[in-house]
Amino acid sequence: MAEPQVVLEEALRAFRETYPDCEPRIAVAAPGRVNLIGEHTDYNQGFVLPMALPMVTVVVGCQSTDGNISLCTLAKEADEPKRLEFPVPSEGNPLTPGLPNWANYVKGVIQHYRAGPLPGFKAVTASNVPLGGGLSSSASLEVAVYTFLQQICPDDGDLVQKALTCQKAEHTFASMPCGIMDQFISVMGEAGHALLIDCRSLQVTPVPISDSSLVILITNSNVRHSLTGSEYPTRRKQCLEAAKALGKDSLRDVSMAELKAAKARLDAEVYCRAHHVISEIKRTAEGAEALKARNYWEFGKLMVQSHNSLRDDYNVSCRELDELVAVAMDGEGVYGSRMTGGGFGGCTVTLLEAAAVEKTIQRIKDNYSGTPTFHITRPSRGAHVLQL
Ligand code: ADP
Ligand code: MG
Repeated sequence: MAEPQVVLEEALRAFRETYPDCEPRIAVAAPGRVNLIGEHTDYNQGFVLPMALPMVTVVVGCQSTDGNISLCTLAKEADEPKRLEFPVPSEGNPLTPGLPNWANYVKGVIQHYRAGPLPGFKAVTASNVPLGGGLSSSASLEVAVYTFLQQICPDDGDLVQKALTCQKAEHTFASMPCGIMDQFISVMGEAGHALLIDCRSLQVTPVPISDSSLVILITNSNVRHSLTGSEYPTRRKQCLEAAKALGKDSLRDVSMAELKAAKARLDAEVYCRAHHVISEIKRTAEGAEALKARNYWEFGKLMVQSHNSLRDDYNVSCRELDELVAVAMDGEGVYGSRMTGGGFGGCTVTLLEAAAVEKTIQRIKDNYSGTPTFHITRPSRGAHVLQL
C-alpha cells in the first residue's frame, strides 16, 4: 500500500473510535521534506533545494454545527493531552498559544487562516513524518491543517499565501522564527522533482530527479540535542548583524569579496556564520545546475562542502551527524552526503548509485555508534486532498 494510504487508514480508524457519532468526510495529506542542499539560507533570502517526501501528515474529519473545534493527534511523541476542544475563534475571542505544545501548530494555522468565518469541525491527525527528526513534521502538520480548512471554508487558492500563512503560524504560535522553505515545499512539492526556491523573489523552479540509477537515502541519527531551541534564533540574529554591518538587508546581497573585506570589523563568530551562508547560497545555485545536468559527482562534492561548512562555520552539526556523513562517504558509488534540516541531530541525506545502496546501509549499521533508521526515498507531490 502507498505510504499516505497507510497513514490515512490509521487516521480513519482513530476518527471512528474517537467520534463514533460522526462520519469522516474530508481527508488531506501534506508531506515532510528533505533538503538536498541550501541549509540555513532561507531566512537569509538565499536559495534552497528541498524535495517533498512520500512521508505525510494526514488530517481527516468533518464539519460540525456546535461551534467547537475538536482535535486529536495520534503522534506518540506529542505532549499530552492528545485531544482537545475549544470554540471556533472570533474577533473578540482569538486563539492564543499555550499547552499542549503540539496544538500550537494547529491553532496558529486556524487563527491565521485566510478565509472565514470557519465552521466548527472534528479532526484527527496522523503522521509518518518523524517528529523532531529534521524532516519537517511541523510544516507538514501546518500545511495539512490549512489544506483541511480549505475543504470546509475555501480561500482564494493562492499557494504562496498559503505557505506564508503556515510559516506565520509557526512564528507566532510555536515561537519558531523559521524561514519559508519547509512550508513552501510541503505546499508546492512535485513528484520526480526537487524545487529550487529563491527565498528572495519566492520564485520556484522544479529540478527533475528521476534517474532510476540514482538513490536518495535519508539516515536518521535518532538523536536530537536539546540546545536547538535557542541556537536557531541566535544564528538568525548573527546573520542579520552581519548583513547590517555590511549595509545590506540580507546576506543574499553580500558577496564573498565584500564579506572578506569586512573581516576585521566583524565579530569572529558572526564572520563565520556569514561565511557559511554566503558560500551555501552559491553552492545551492551551482547544485541545481549540476543536478539538471545529471552531474551527480559534482552535486555530491557540493553536498560534502555544505556539510563541512555547517559543521565548521555554522556550528550546527554534532558528533553523530559527522559520523554518519564520514561513514556514508567511505565507500564506492556514494556521490555525497550531508546533514539536513536545522542540525544538532536529526537526519543526513546521501546521494548514491542504486547499486551501492545495500552496502552503504550495511556499512552505516556496522560503524555508526548509535542506532540509525533508513528511508530510501523519492521526490513526491505537495499537499493534496485524499479520496474517501
Ligand atoms: P521537525 O519539523 O523537524 O519535525 P520541529 O521541532 O520543528 O521538528 O517540530 C516538531 C513538533 O511539531 C513536535 O514536537 C510537535 O509539537 C509538532 N508536531 C509535528 N507533527 C505532529 C503531529 N502529527 N501531531 C502532533 N504534533 C506534531
Ligand atoms: Mg519543523
